[in-house]
Order: sequence, then structure tokens, then C-alpha cells
Amino acid sequence: MRIFYRLLKMADDTVKCYLECCKSSHPKLPLPHNVPVIIGRTPELGITDKLCSRSQLELTSNCYKRYVLVKRLGANTSQINGIDIEKNKSSRLEEGQDLHVVNGKFPHRVYFTGCQNDTKTEKAVVPKLPTKSTGLTKSDLFIKQPERKKLKVSENKSKVLNSKIKPQEKFSSESVYAFDSPSPMSSRCEKKAESNKRAPTHKHWSQGLKAAMEDPELVVQEDEQIVVIKDKYPKAKYHWLILPKDSISSTKNLSTDNIELLKHILKVGQELATEVMDKQPDVEFRFGYHAVASMSQMHMHVISQDFQSSSFKTKKHWNSFTTDYFVDATDIINELETGGKVKDRRTMTSLLNEPLKCHRCKKPQKNIPTLKKHIDSCQK
Ligand code: AMP
Repeated sequence: MRIFYRLLKMADDTVKCYLECCKSSHPKLPLPHNVPVIIGRTPELGITDKLCSRSQLELTSNCYKRYVLVKRLGANTSQINGIDIEKNKSSRLEEGQDLHVVNGKFPHRVYFTGCQNDTKTEKAVVPKLPTKSTGLTKSDLFIKQPERKKLKVSENKSKVLNSKIKPQEKFSSESVYAFDSPSPMSSRCEKKAESNKRAPTHKHWSQGLKAAMEDPELVVQEDEQIVVIKDKYPKAKYHWLILPKDSISSTKNLSTDNIELLKHILKVGQELATEVMDKQPDVEFRFGYHAVASMSQMHMHVISQDFQSSSFKTKKHWNSFTTDYFVDATDIINELETGGKVKDRRTMTSLLNEPLKCHRCKKPQKNIPTLKKHIDSCQK
């Protein structure tokens, strides 16, 4: 127990959280762990708009879990990734997400620096802002920050840049993706320190797909509207992601204006799958979106149903592709066509913890190795 609290304290000493203005209107603002910091129409933030209350938002960072709880105190609305925060309610702000302080204005983001065992940490200064303190919470994982590659992609339309029909086993199975199981704390921190040395950026891992869209190693095809990339941690023999070139962070930001784009994405996915199936008629594909995607910039998965991949390692991987957590692209299109918006599926994350079962015969499976063995042999 004592060791646990000592570990908590160590993390508290090293992991720092900052609020940064996307328009660089003010210096970064430290958000010390578990100390509510109130922001609003104050000289520190340089906000003078009367619609913004002096005490518009209360921000409480959790440096262990790397998120910030945002409570709206002001009368006018604030948003996280375009979604309104209800008055006096707390919403979770993750690294990489946009926080608009009031009425879609004054964009900010949070980021975290340092982690346990990390020798290079920045010193946070407690801001001179109204605060009140509360108790400690439990420690959690640290997630590696990916290196952002600055590579340009050719502007040629509909250009096939990589062989499309090769099974995807060439990438490392080490993943920064949220569903991947945590590696030991120290190794994560070493990797993070390493990545910080190479790329001094605080872009969150959830932004990795935007960099991937410009990575010639990953891009297989593109046109005016979309980019197709290989999934870096494929969960099956064939696994691609199709992303719009326009910035759309997730399916929940879709409107009826995007229906044609979604149909185009699906068509491109079906064409890719057809290319494979022409040569291997037994390969089956699904096309769809995760109920709550972990990576920003909306993407449709094109995934073969063999699930033969060394990157498929956990129950969460499995359930994210084989339960209702995987939403068929046609369902998303239908929802927009009939109701004008995409259903809120945030409560579906519980499906990720469902017991393992075969996606074909539905037979329960004890663990991942047993499941892998079973699906290799299970017929429809
Ligand atoms: P989700 O956001 O849950 O729909 O899934 C994100 C997908 O992106 C996963 O299948 C990951 O394996 C994949 N992924 C994560 N990081 C990268 C990256 N940097 N490049 C390409 N694919 C990635």
C-alpha cells in the first residue's frame, strides 16, 4: 500500500498538464493535478468577449489518467470537440480534443508532459487563478506519444501508391493505439522519452492518423475526397482505413451534407475488397466504424474477417470488430438519411468487455490464443 502511494506521488511529481491556446493568444497555463482551475474572461486568457463569464469553466486535470474534467460554470455554452457542455456538468477533455471556451470561440487544447521515471520534466508553475483542492485518485496507464512524420504525399488524383492486395504483416506489433494492452510502465516511458527526443511535439497519439495520411509508407490510394491507408496495427490479413481529406473528427460530427462522402468512402472500400476477393473468393470483408473511435479524424475500417494478425492481441481488439461496437457503414449512412444525424453510441463501450466468443459459430472462447486457434478452423 505504502509503495502504491509512493508511486502515486512520483507520478504526481513528474506528469504535468497544460492548457494551451490554439491561437497562441496567451502563454500555456499549467493545470496542476487534481487542482480545480477556473478560466474565463480574465486577463490571463486575454478573453474580453462579454458572452464569456469571468468564471466560465472549471478545469481539473488528472495527470495519472491524462485527461481534464471540464465543468461549465458560465451561462453561455462551451464545447468539447463541438459537443456542448451542460451547465454545472463535467465533461472529459482528452489530449488532442478541442475545447471552445464559449460559443465555439477561443479554442484550447490540453497536453501532458513527462511520466514516471522520466528524467526530463518541465516545471509547472501554479497559476494565479481561483482554485480549490480535492482528494487524490488512483493511478493509471501512460500512453506513448507517437513520432509525427512530416512527409508530403503526391497530389495526383486516384493514385495507387502502395501495393493494395498484400496482406499486412509488415508493421511492428508494438502499438500506441488505445485498445492495445499497456506495456510495462518503464518501457513506455523510455519510448516516450525517445519519441520526444526525435520529435519535440505534444501531439497526442489520437492524432496519429492525420500524420499517417501523409506517410507514403501507409498511403495506398487517394483521390480528391479521401485517403486510404494501411492500418498500422492490422487486426486481420487485410485491414485498411479510409479517411476523408476534409477535417471530420468523428462520426458524431457528421450531418446530411456528408452522406455522399460516406457513400464514396464505402464504394472505395468495396472496390479494394473486390480486388482481393477476385483473387481469393473465400476472403470476407466488413466495412464500418467503431462506435466510439479512439483515433481522431473519422475513418472507415475495411477489414477481412480472418482476424489473423499478430497485432490482434486483446479482448478489446476482438470485441471492437465483432460485436455491435463495429457499426456497419451502411447503418451510419441510413441513420443520416433517416434521422439527419448519427446515433450517440458512447454507452456501447461496455461491449468491449463482453466475454470472448467466435464471430461465426458464437461458441464461447476461454482466451485469445484459444480463440485464434478456433477461428482458424471454424467454418460458417
Ligand atoms: P478506431 O479509432 O477505434 O476506429 O481505430 C483506430 C485504428 O487505427 C486501429 O485499427 C489502429 O490499429 C489504427 N492506427 C492507430 N495508429 C495508427 C497510425 N499511426 N497509422 C495507421 N493506423 C493506426
